[in-house]
Amino acid sequence: MKRKVIIIGSGPAGLTAAIYSARANLNPLIFEGPQPGGQLTITTDVENYPGFPDGIMGPEMMDEFRKQAKRFGAECLYQMVEKVDFLNKPFSVWSNGKKYESDSVIISTGASARLLGLDAEQKLMGHGVSACATCDGFFFKDKKVVVVGGGDSAMEEAIFLTKFASEVTIIHRRNQFRASKIMVERALGNPKVKIKYNSIVKNIMGEKEDGVSSIEIEDVISNKTTIYKCEGVFLAIGHTPNTEIFKNILKLDGNGYIKTKPDSTYTNIDGVFACGDVQDSIYKQAVTAAGSGCMAALDAEKWLEN
Ligand code: NAP
Repeated sequence: MKRKVIIIGSGPAGLTAAIYSARANLNPLIFEGPQPGGQLTITTDVENYPGFPDGIMGPEMMDEFRKQAKRFGAECLYQMVEKVDFLNKPFSVWSNGKKYESDSVIISTGASARLLGLDAEQKLMGHGVSACATCDGFFFKDKKVVVVGGGDSAMEEAIFLTKFASEVTIIHRRNQFRASKIMVERALGNPKVKIKYNSIVKNIMGEKEDGVSSIEIEDVISNKTTIYKCEGVFLAIGHTPNTEIFKNILKLDGNGYIKTKPDSTYTNIDGVFACGDVQDSIYKQAVTAAGSGCMAALDAEKWLEN
């Protein structure tokens, strides 16, 4: 059956687009993707989403978003989209090898935390290695941890981790931070924060059962490697937008984010809209993603009418 709206991605942007398009009687079909509910499902307390003065757990909030969308007739599939065809109308998307057709498509596939590309990182993810200090910081009470990265996220995560850890060492590959001055000052002003400049993490040692025990660091100036004892490794080296399947189809910016027309969610293909972190490298907040999800649904509704 051909759909009026297919939504790819199920974070705050996708599920808000689902709520609005379902309420407009467009019966959206949502492909939830590899992380149903999006990045908020790997966080704990969300304290900055308006309307929740006491905070709300990320996974719970996304369940509520989904419930609200379903109440108005949205249909969710816990599947990935493998391929799309936006050149022919109706548009087609393929999931589990099956083809689905739709008059319009809303893309809300979000962004994923960048990793260093070490084997040990995969093995120890969730066992001492983390890409989310907010989610996992609590487990590192009185322990030595490192934060890899030199941007605002690295500063923010390092400052946050000082609430729990005994020592937080920021490891940055250059001798100059990319982060804003104020964030650097805040981090450096904290007595628990130490810095290792010009350094890269070559390996992470540890076992799943016992967690991380140490890391191997290379000084990029002297090429000397040292072993540094620590129990937590937090990666804060940026995010990559989930746009792999849209390459060569939609216009992307230099960092791979989908380009949308100013003050709208229109992409370069009429009838295909993008919202949330997949087209926003600046704000990246649940509330801004939800706002742009609303915009995408309204844009799609208007476009379908015309
Ligand atoms: P970012 O600004 O892209 O910084 C990523 C950092 O990781 C850079 O310092 C980069 O090093 C380093 N890096 C990247 N790949 C690496 C690798 N393979 N190995 C080692 N280091 C690597 O990302 P972000 O910090 O997540 O920030 C993203 C955006 O969100 C920014 O616009 C930022 O201002 C914003 N943000 C703002 C706040 C705030 O204001 N409170 C908080 C968080 C994020 P190089 O510097 O050498 O490239």
